[in-house]
Order: sequence, then structure tokens, then C-alpha cells
Amino acid sequence: MDNVDNLSNLSNLKNLDNTIENFIDGQYQAPLNNNYLDNIEPATGLVYGKIPNSDQDDVEQAVKAAEQALPAWRSLDLEQRADYLMAIAQEIEHQLEPLALAEAQDNGKPISLAKMVDIPRAASNFKFFAHACSQFASESHAMNNTAINYTLRQPVGIVGCISPWNLPLYLFTWKIAPALAAGNCVIAKPSEITPKTAAMLGEICQKVGLPKGVLNILHGNGATVGSAICNHPKIKAISFTGGTATGAEIATQLAPKFKKLSLELGGKNPALIFDDCNIDKTINEVFRASFANQGQICLCASRLYVQRGIYEKFKSALVEKAKKLIPADPLLDDTKMGAIVSKAHLDKVLSYIEIAKEEGGTILAGGKQVLGEGRCQRGYFLQPTIIEGLSNSATCNQQEIFGPVITIQPFDTDEQALALANESDYGLAATIWTNNLSRAHQLAEQINTGIVWINCWLLRDLRTPFGGMNHSGVGREGGLEAMRFFTEPKNVCIKY
Ligand code: NDP
Repeated sequence: MDNVDNLSNLSNLKNLDNTIENFIDGQYQAPLNNNYLDNIEPATGLVYGKIPNSDQDDVEQAVKAAEQALPAWRSLDLEQRADYLMAIAQEIEHQLEPLALAEAQDNGKPISLAKMVDIPRAASNFKFFAHACSQFASESHAMNNTAINYTLRQPVGIVGCISPWNLPLYLFTWKIAPALAAGNCVIAKPSEITPKTAAMLGEICQKVGLPKGVLNILHGNGATVGSAICNHPKIKAISFTGGTATGAEIATQLAPKFKKLSLELGGKNPALIFDDCNIDKTINEVFRASFANQGQICLCASRLYVQRGIYEKFKSALVEKAKKLIPADPLLDDTKMGAIVSKAHLDKVLSYIEIAKEEGGTILAGGKQVLGEGRCQRGYFLQPTIIEGLSNSATCNQQEIFGPVITIQPFDTDEQALALANESDYGLAATIWTNNLSRAHQLAEQINTGIVWINCWLLRDLRTPFGGMNHSGVGREGGLEAMRFFTEPKNVCIKY
């Protein structure tokens, strides 16, 4: 139980005696109302810390700090700005172990996943945008013998970054890094459910000497502090990742305020699996795509469409694997599946399984809460669940569950597969599994999602546009898209 023993070491980090504080103007401070919320460890179901229940007043203070920091930060030499981001990346790498431990405890994800994916990716986000800011160029448009236009891409100013609980530091830094790289000052809020690594990021900023007020991190409820960030008149752009209903609410509130808004929302991602795929490899990869991080990745496959010729074989192999995957203490090094993030979320996921049964679904694997062992007896564990026999219009094929629950159904032709996949309000990501190159390209063109992976899943190049269409969001993150979002283009026209 090395990792469990090591939990006490986390309290050596300033601010992390399990009472988290806001990070404003380069300093940790209590919320002005002195009000705190409980932080619950999903693997044990026990309160293990407190987090600020911040409100409008804390946002006001953070905005003041950002306002003071902005003139120097936006005009800083690009190389110096890049150096700060690179130093943050290096410090995240240096703190891989404590950060991964904090992430696993806070979120319930296996510590091996946090070490392999979440924390390294947070470092990569800073590295990538450290390079991106020095490579970012703007356009020039010549008008024949008349004039020349050039576009300035200037920082937006003070921006808000709001992120969800599923990949806490990974998604938090995916927004903050480009915002800082483009010369903005940031007010950021992690999910109230997983605040810990975001709080530790403040200490990293102190350590590398990031100028005060450039990054401010506030904690608390979305409906209070999140909303106050979105609606603050001096915060000029909001980059939000979270649920579709929250995105709709924010979009409604901000429409008359004419703020820049990027929305990365939910998904209901189809996997199209054809007879001619490399079946063994596909079974392993689709299994991972379905259940990684307890199925709590916006990109996870949740609707599996399998061509009839391999349907039974594919289904049996998947069910067998699901039955062998036993959720366990996230802090054990060999755990492959951890806890669901919260009791409320576990109940929500379980309620979808009940709806599936009522709508005629057969539970092929899982479907039940699991009791953990030792310190995890009151944790929120759920078996990986596979459901068959639902119509494509059934609730579990149309609504996002965001847990370790997938549906599976057969199809015969490419046209059928495409129609089933596209019968959705969402449009985030799809995977296609086939060795037929023409089919893969044709389907990729016709499928209504922002991202398509062929014979792979979650293979990421940070330069590519990232995001979804329809109810999965508006706008794209990643590479140039992010740098453009966090800058205001200004055209300058010079007549000869
Ligand atoms: P929520 O929409 O509940 O919350 C996301 C963030 O927004 C949290 O920090 C939350 O704070 C905050 N928030 C909530 N209400 C408001 C509000 N009115 N104004 C401002 N901020 C608010 O999503 P979850 O945290 O439950 O995350 C899961 C969702 O995120 C899933 O739908 C998933 O698909 C989606 N997601 C999308 C991704 C993408 O790239 N498209 C990537 C990852 C996840 P608090 O926690 O306090 O409520």
C-alpha cells in the first residue's frame, strides 16, 4: 500500500494539508466568505479535505490581480513567455509522482493512468504551447497595386477557463496553456469535485516565478463562482469544457454579452466495427476506448455497431474481458479500473442501466455497483457494463451516460452503419475499424463528428483541431485553433 502511505506526504506541499485555497495574485488565500465545501474521495466515500466555496467577491479580486498583471504579460518578449511555460512543464514532470497520486485520490482514476496519461499530458500541453507561441504567425492580404492588409492577433485580455472533473489537470492545462501563450491573463476554475491538482499548479507557478496575477485559480461551485467568472464584464472570453446542458446555460447567459465562447461538450460516440478489421487488435482497442478512466472520457466509445459476420465473436470476447475487469482501489499500482467520480454520478449511471432494462435491453456484463475491499468498502465502484438489444432510439443510445456503460448492436451494410452512427444529437468523436481503405475514407467524410479515428483511439497530435459539432460543442481547441481563439484579430489596411 505504498501509494496510500504516501498520501500523507502530499500534505508536505504548501496548501495541501487537505484544505485547498484559492490562488490569487500569486498567493494562496482563503475564500473571502470563509466558506468551504467538502472534498470526498471517490474510492472511500469519505470526506478528506475542504475546498473554497468561492463567490463573486473572489472573482472580483482575481480580476483586479489579472488587470494589474496584464500590461506586462501581454507585452513580454515571446521567448520569455515561452520560457515560463516550459519551466511550468518541467516542474509538472518533476512532480509526476505527487501529482498523479493527488489525481488518483481526487478523481478515483487508477494511479497508473494518471502517471502514464494525465500528468505527462498536462506537461505536454505547456510544452506544446510554449513552442506554439513562438511559431504563431498572422495573415497578410495584398490588394494588387493598391494596398496591403496585415492582421494583428492580439491577446484578448483577461479570459476565463472552466474545466470538468474527468481529466482534471489534463483539461485544465489544455485551456490555460494556450491562453497564457497568447498573452492573456487567466481566471481558471477546475471542477469542484476534483480541485486538488489544479491547486497544486499554483505552487508550481510560484516555484517557476510566473508573475503574480497572470494565472489565478478559483475553486467552488459552477453555479456560483463558475457563473460569476462567465458573467464578469472584464473577462472577455470563456473557454468551457463540460456537459451540454451547462454549455447551453452559459451560451444563453453570454449571448447578449458578446463574449468569445468556446464550448467543448458531451458526446455519444459511435464505434463502427467491420468484418474485415483486425479482430484481435480491435477487441483490445475498442475495450480500452469503452472503459478507460471508467468510461469517463468525453471521447470514449459508447455505442458499438458491429458487422454481422463477426458480431457474436466480437461480443463474446468483449463480454469475457469485461467480466475479468474488476474495479479496485485506484491507488494500487496494478489497478486497471478505479472508482466512479462521485456518489451522485454513480447513481446517475446506475439509473441509466435501469432505464436500459425497462426499454428492453439485456445486460450482458456488469450492471451492478461493486463493494471495494479494505479502505474502499464505501467507495463508488461499478462493473464495466455491456448492454444488448436496445433500439437505436433508446435512451442509452441517445443520451450521454459518461460511465463504464456501452451498448452493442449488429449491422449489415456500410449505409446502415453510417445511418446508425449519425442518428444522434451529439457529434464529438467516432472510431472506424476496417482494413478497407476506401470505406474508411468515405465513412470518415460522411460521419457527423469533429474527430474520426480509424483503427485507433485517442491517438492525439496536439496540432490538430479538437472538438465536436452539434450538441458536442462550438469551436475547436488545439494548435492554431486555440491560439486563434485566445487572440483578437485586427486587420490593418495600408494604402500605397
Ligand atoms: P459540468 O458541465 O457539470 O461542469 C463542468 C465545469 O463547469 C465544472 O467546473 C463546473 O463546476 C462548471 N459549471 C457548472 N455549472 C456552471 C455554470 N452555470 N457556469 C459556469 N460554470 C459552471 O460537467 P462535468 O464536470 O460533469 O463534466 C462532464 C461533462 O464534460 C460530460 O458531459 C463530458 O462529455 C464533458 N466533457 C467534454 C469534453 C470535450 O472535450 N468535449 C472533455 C471532457 C468532458 P462544478 O464542478 O462546481 O459544477
